[in-house]
Amino acid sequence: MIERTELAQKIIVGSEEWCSLPQIGIPAIKVRVDSGAKTSSLHAFNIRAFSRAGINYVSFEVHPLQGNRRTIVRCEAEIIDKRVVKSSSGIGEKRYVVKTALRHHDQQWDIELTLTNRDSMGYRMLLGREAMNGRMLVDPSCSFLGGKVGSNQIDQLYHQHTRESAGLRIGLLASNPDLISNQRIMEAGEERGHRIRFYDVRQCYMKLDAEHPEIHYRGGKLLNNLDAVIPRIRPDLTFYGCALVRQFESLGIYSLNSAQSISQSRDKLFSLQHLLQHGLPIPTTGFADSPLDTDDLIDMVNGAPLVVKLLEGPHHRGVVLAESRNAGESLINAFRSLQANLLVQEFIKEAEGRSLRLLVVDNKVVSAVERQAAPGHFRSNRQEGNSVTAVRLSVEERKLAIRAAKVMGLKVAGVDIIRSRKGPLLLEVNSSPSLGDLEDVSGKDLAGTLISTVEKQLGWKRRLATPVGTPFEKPARE
Ligand code: ADP
Repeated sequence: MIERTELAQKIIVGSEEWCSLPQIGIPAIKVRVDSGAKTSSLHAFNIRAFSRAGINYVSFEVHPLQGNRRTIVRCEAEIIDKRVVKSSSGIGEKRYVVKTALRHHDQQWDIELTLTNRDSMGYRMLLGREAMNGRMLVDPSCSFLGGKVGSNQIDQLYHQHTRESAGLRIGLLASNPDLISNQRIMEAGEERGHRIRFYDVRQCYMKLDAEHPEIHYRGGKLLNNLDAVIPRIRPDLTFYGCALVRQFESLGIYSLNSAQSISQSRDKLFSLQHLLQHGLPIPTTGFADSPLDTDDLIDMVNGAPLVVKLLEGPHHRGVVLAESRNAGESLINAFRSLQANLLVQEFIKEAEGRSLRLLVVDNKVVSAVERQAAPGHFRSNRQEGNSVTAVRLSVEERKLAIRAAKVMGLKVAGVDIIRSRKGPLLLEVNSSPSLGDLEDVSGKDLAGTLISTVEKQLGWKRRLATPVGTPFEKPARE
């Protein structure tokens, strides 16, 4: 039995607490109390081992504040071990272990910390049971029993660690600097005081290395110190472009759309299946590998007229309407003989060559247009002779677009919707939507919206200079 007096000496903590790591220069960090984990861990990046006077050290950088990549603390500590730690997904990762002091409220003691660079910008530190042993009791229904640290105090504590005056360093990863969308993004970035550069995806190259991962640009310029990238990867460069975005992400550099979300949105069949699995409607679609059952496949989508879509192929040119069953069969067989992967889809006749393009940014529909195909045509997306006009959206259409972007994991998405008798149906979710038409019709600064989303994600604020002589409030717990 545990003695009453012993119990009274224990610190009671909630499921999250404010602590500090004074020896490595972290004055406040919100930790997740996780008694399910043995060792405590700290999110770190640019982790480098080195030795000084025969002793092994590790230097690393920490974003100590959740959701804020502008505040960076550079740390150094002696390595006491190197361990393989299994994450909740069961994958082992080799991590450095350091010993450092942990301070919670008015008590301080040494703990072991592993350094991990898996970064989802969630809690910056997990407090495991080894660090709590004999000292803490957890009441999971509470939070911040050791006191809260307010945002003013955070600003003061991290003032010197926050890059704020010079703007962000942003890379636009694309292929054609003359495209209107790319020019607008460059302009919007500069207007807002950032240093934004255009990087041709194919001119970037990378070094995969556990200790010193790098990304270089034509001629050897190092791109490791960017704050964020805005990827606009051309469909034919999806494979290389996504590898590049992944490399930026592994360096802790924020990407407006993640590599994973881009690559899955580029797989048309996967996307349609994924949307359906999440209960989102699409036109009835058929897909087959064998040419033997073409007839039945056509029946599946209610016969002719039907739409045949090439899964890989020339952008905006692989979508064909077969008016009759015979035409459908010939088309499917011809494409198949060329080893092309294709899907067939019911033709939404009642749309009369119209579709909607909704731009979703950070879970909001920020603009929308209706596209109308040229007379006698059915493809409404960006073809010669098409017209683009403003449109009033229904609540259902808005919700559908927001959910589609969310399900695909895209921060920025161009969602194509077709109005059918059954209600709005999703045609496609695009990870690099063009801005030109949408800006022209709406008159909105949509490129600016993309940049402000990057600012928000990085916790970057355009601040007025602190007047000289203004005394700081004395940092104290609330
Ligand atoms: P992509 O963007 O690769 O060219 P989409 O699937 O978006 O291919 O189709 C292009 C255009 O064709 C759409 O914008 C829409 O106007 C028209 N369209 C596509 N699928 C259908 C369909 N099932 N029924 C009617 N029209 C369609």
